[in-house]
Formats: sequence, structure tokens, C-alpha cells
Amino acid sequence: MDFRHTEEQELFYKSVVEFAQKEIQPGAAERDEEARFDRDVWDKAADFGLMSLPFPEEYGGSGASVMDTSLAGEALGYGGLDAGFCLSWGAHVVIGGIPIWQLGTEEQKQKYLPKIAAGEWISGLGLTEPEAGSDAGGILTTAVKKDGYYVLNGTKTFITNGPIGEVFVVLAKTDPEKGHAGITGFIVEKGFKGFSVGKEIHKTGNRSSPTSELVFEDCEVPAENMLGEENQGFLQVAMTTLEWERSVMLAAAIGGQQIQLEECIKYAKERRQFGRPIASFQAVQFMLADMKMWLETSRWILYKTAWNKDQGIMDHAQAALSKLYITEVALKAARNAIQIHGGYGYTKEYAVERSYRDAQLGVLGGGTSEIQRWIIGRTLIA
Ligand SMILES: Cc1cc2nc3c(=O)[nH]c(=O)nc-3n(C[C@H](O)[C@H](O)[C@H](O)COP(=O)(O)OP(=O)(O)OC[C@H]3O[C@@H](n4cnc5c(N)ncnc54)[C@H](O)[C@@H]3O)c2cc1C
Repeated sequence: MDFRHTEEQELFYKSVVEFAQKEIQPGAAERDEEARFDRDVWDKAADFGLMSLPFPEEYGGSGASVMDTSLAGEALGYGGLDAGFCLSWGAHVVIGGIPIWQLGTEEQKQKYLPKIAAGEWISGLGLTEPEAGSDAGGILTTAVKKDGYYVLNGTKTFITNGPIGEVFVVLAKTDPEKGHAGITGFIVEKGFKGFSVGKEIHKTGNRSSPTSELVFEDCEVPAENMLGEENQGFLQVAMTTLEWERSVMLAAAIGGQQIQLEECIKYAKERRQFGRPIASFQAVQFMLADMKMWLETSRWILYKTAWNKDQGIMDHAQAALSKLYITEVALKAARNAIQIHGGYGYTKEYAVERSYRDAQLGVLGGGTSEIQRWIIGRTLIA
């Protein structure tokens, strides 16, 4: 067992950090305040190669491993200080692009992946519905085959990149009687007849990442845009995608925890009370120590999950554990960070206030903490 990254990985991490510090960090607080996605920042990240990482070279990708894609996420979280950007990046690369790469036909891959890898077409995943969040098998959107098309009807909600995306992987019921076993995946382009972006959702955190409903009203999806096998969508699309989401997409939270810890140490050394730096108080050191412990343990859980995926090991419980642990401790660490900053941590003057709002999404999106505990628990007793 070797716990070190290679020299190449270290250099890669450093280059992404430098890029993020230069191109993403400036204006991040304003984008949060204004809930504004910045296409220029996106395009620069695409030019840098961040949208293409995991995809094979023949589709415009860079062929990066899961570990290296995770490292890029970690570096973005550390250098960019823009959780919303990381969320949009993750939704595009991981939950939008990966299912097309993993399950698509050769034609689908040739058609969509080069545009996704170039960041030219922004992508996302449409699974959640107003009546079906945790209970994803309960989705109501239907897809009925007719004259070379599947006709989709229904509404998706909370879709990351909804207002800015050009192509979405959408899950719909092809056999409504069958629950999970009646769901099929489709690749839906923004220009398809009957498809529209619904109401935009105004969020508490991750505000530079746009979120909206997607609406399908007799939306005509060419039959060749079915993704994977009919009625296998839940298992194939949802589970493959969510497993990636519960590993690679979390890396940014780890980078975020690292920079937050560094900022807290700096603040604690500078801020003086009772005639001495607050860092000299053991109670403050304990909070820092907990943050360091959560950061290190998060890192190793994530690396194991990424390593598993690179070896082709499918382990839903490990991915759930990774998602549960990293997001729960990121929230606790964000709370400590505010506590260390005292009243100033509760103001817009310091980024810790934003981190706390951002961190709350982790325990909700991509399957809540309760659902992750359920997955882990039922695996333990199986
Ligand atoms: C900012 C944001 C971005 C998102 N992006 C996307 C996206 O790109 N694509 C997409 O498809 N979805 C997306 N989602 C949706 C997200 O995955 C869902 O919000 C999440 O799965 C929870 O569903 P829900 O909000 O309907 O909550 P509910 O399922 O209604 O849950 C409410 C509460 O009940 C609990 N609960 C529910 N069932 C159980 C149970 N069986 N046992 C114990 N507790 C339970 C939950 O844990 C939670 O505490 C996004 C959400 C947000 C907030």
C-alpha cells in the first residue's frame, strides 16, 4: 500500500490550484451574492481542460483516471473558493457526461461527448421530481414510444445546470406499473420539441450554480436517444451515475475543507482576546484538531472510493459511506470555522459564512444522509 500521490499527480494538482486561484476565485463572493453563473469562467476552465478529464481521448477527453479527476475536484475546491462552480462542473462532467460515456451507443458517444468534453454543451442529469426525491423509483415522468420517438411528459425539479444546459440525461417511466424496473434513460437536447426550462430555483448556497425545473410536454425524443437498455435506466443510469456522484463530486468539499482550515489557523493566530491570540486557547485548538481529523479521514475515504472505481470495483456501500461521511463532516467543519471566527464568521466579511451555506447541500443533494445510512445499513445486514 502506497499512500503518496505520484510526482505527476502532485504537479497536476498544483496546476489546477493555480488555475482556480487565478481564474475562479476572483469574483466568487460576488457571484454568490448575485446568484450568477459566469460563462467566461466556465469557458476558461474548459480551455484549461477541466471538462474533458475522465472521457476517452477518441471522444475529445483526456483519459484521466477517477483518482486524477478527483484530484482536479479537490484542487478546484481549494483554489476556487466557489462551491457553485464545482457543483456545476461536477453535474456536467460526472452526472451528465459519465452516463453517456458509460452507457451510450457509439453514435451517441460520437455525437455528444466531444461537445461535453470541450465544455461547449453544458450537461446535467434530470432524475428528481416534485413528488419523487429520495424515492427515485416513484418518478411520474412517462416516456411512450410512438413513430420512431419516445414522447416524454412530466416535470423534473432541482436540476443543476437546468437553465444553462444544452443536453440532459433524463429518466422516465417506460413501464409505469413497474417502479424501479420500469425506468429508462434518455438523452434530451434543449432544442427538442416539447422541452422547456421551468422555474428557476433560488437557493441558500452554491448560488453561482443555476438550478431549475425541466418541463416535458409531449416532448419528442428520437428513439435512438434512448440511453442504455429499456427499463434498465434506474439500475444502469441512476446507480452508475450516483456512485460517481458520491465519490468524485465530493472531492471539491475536501479541497474546501483544506483551505478553510488554513484560513482558520491564520485567523486564530491573528485574532487576540484576553491579551493573547485565540489560537493559544485549547478550546480553539480542539476545534482545529477536529477539523484536521475530519479532513484527513475524508481524504482517505474518498481516495479509497476513487481507487475502487479505477479498479472497476462497484461498491455502493463504500460510495454511500464516502458521501455520508465527507458531507457530514464538511458541515461540522464549516460550523467550527464560523465559531472560530466568532461574530465575524457570521458576516459576509469572511468566506466561512458562504462555506456553511454551501456545505448544507452536501447532506441533501445526491441522496440525503438518511438514504446513505439506509444503503450502508441494509448492506451490513444483508
Ligand atoms: C441544489 C440542489 C441541486 C440538485 N441537483 C440535482 C440534479 O442535478 N439532478 C437531480 O436529479 N436532482 C438534483 N437534486 C435533488 C436531490 O438529489 C434531492 O433533493 C434529494 O435526493 C432529496 O430529495 P427531496 O429534496 O425530494 O427530499 P425528500 O425525499 O422529500 O426527503 C425529505 C426528508 O425525508 C427524509 N427521508 C425520505 N425518505 C426517507 C427514508 N426512506 N428513510 C429515512 N428518511 C427519509 C430525507 O432524508 C429528508 O430528510 C438537487 C437538489 C438540490 C437541493
